[in-house]
Amino acid sequence: MPYLRQDSGGVPSYKMQLQENIPLAPLTTFHIGGPARWYADATTEDEILEAVAFAGEQEIPLFVLGGGSNLLVSDAGFPGLVLHIGLRGIEQRPGGIFVVAAGEDWDQFVSTAIEANCGGIECLAGIPGSVGGTPVQNVGAYGQEVSQTIASVRALDLRTNEFVDLPAERCGFTYRRSIFNGIQRGRYIVSAVTYELVNNAKSAVNYADLKRYFQERASHPSLSEVASAVREIRKSKGMLLVEGDPDCRSAGSFFKNPVVPSEVFARIAGQSATTVPHYDAGPQMVKIPAAWLLEHAGFLKGYALGRAGISSKHTLALINRGGASAEDVLMLRDAILQAVESRFGIRLEPEPVFVG
Ligand SMILES: Cc1cc2nc3c(=O)[nH]c(=O)nc-3n(C[C@H](O)[C@H](O)[C@H](O)COP(=O)(O)OP(=O)(O)OC[C@H]3O[C@@H](n4cnc5c(N)ncnc54)[C@H](O)[C@@H]3O)c2cc1C
Repeated sequence: MPYLRQDSGGVPSYKMQLQENIPLAPLTTFHIGGPARWYADATTEDEILEAVAFAGEQEIPLFVLGGGSNLLVSDAGFPGLVLHIGLRGIEQRPGGIFVVAAGEDWDQFVSTAIEANCGGIECLAGIPGSVGGTPVQNVGAYGQEVSQTIASVRALDLRTNEFVDLPAERCGFTYRRSIFNGIQRGRYIVSAVTYELVNNAKSAVNYADLKRYFQERASHPSLSEVASAVREIRKSKGMLLVEGDPDCRSAGSFFKNPVVPSEVFARIAGQSATTVPHYDAGPQMVKIPAAWLLEHAGFLKGYALGRAGISSKHTLALINRGGASAEDVLMLRDAILQAVESRFGIRLEPEPVFVG
């Protein structure tokens, strides 16, 4: 049903389409979740402003939806307005600069950049979701993070109701974190992201999986060869959206890799009969793969708990095995959190956003 705002003279001042009771499950990669009380698709910055005004007038909560690939929506749905960001457009400027509207598909933008022979995001090929979603959790994979190439983020500041251009230094990027999902969560709606890529770049082959993939190669792979390799590796792990593959009815990795003080790591390593994989994470800090912790707490690939489960290809991906509810996934989440905490004394942090 279209919502027509009336100004004081009774004349509709805009005609943004608002729909009611829209099922959210099909709009998420988990395929889980009840309806949105209100739903709108913004294709311009003005429409974002209109939607925000509507939520304010109705005094209802607002949720910003991108590609729905990092969400677990509750079975009851969302009682307010779900605003889908549908702004489109990619503008290429000299010097490897791309200004990309938030509603563009991320993987398609990666392909566009590579076609223009620009590097810096080739290892991020195949990640689902929208461009506007990438700064939110500082998307990363195979040795690259978007924070390495984001120059600025354009967003509506809900405190002032004005669009601002935030330089990368103000976005607070760290591992899977930014101000957008951290200290300023809920304050900004991203409308565009400016990436500074490298013209005629040499591709990045720094990650172990990629090095292995190209080990027989005499020459250095091109940007598009690296992107294809990444997509292929992701597919083998159920980390690429492939129609009909139940292993990708997920939100990707469900848990972040914990970063712990080195003495915590030493304790875990001391108790383990096998070598515990780990990476340096700054002074006196160590990152431990969450997948290793899950596996050693009894949660292996293919594990099933009712209609929820763990991907048969990737330990960290909780999946909807078919007809799962959010409740089913949360039960599995809690079982994992409890087992890992009681075995290792580490409380894992989930990566997806819980809605409603
Ligand atoms: C199979 C699979 C593989 C994945 N692999 C990876 C991976 O390798 N690395 C990785 O980092 N992530 C990965 N993910 C997670 C996910 O793809 C990313 O986090 C993605 O960037 C989310 O974008 P989205 O548009 O789908 O956001 P959504 O899921 O729609 O939203 C996620 C959060 O971002 C907010 N948001 C979205 N758009 C905007 C906007 N325009 N303005 C303000 N807030 C916004 C939402 O409100 C919500 O809080 C994977 C997911 C799946 C399903």
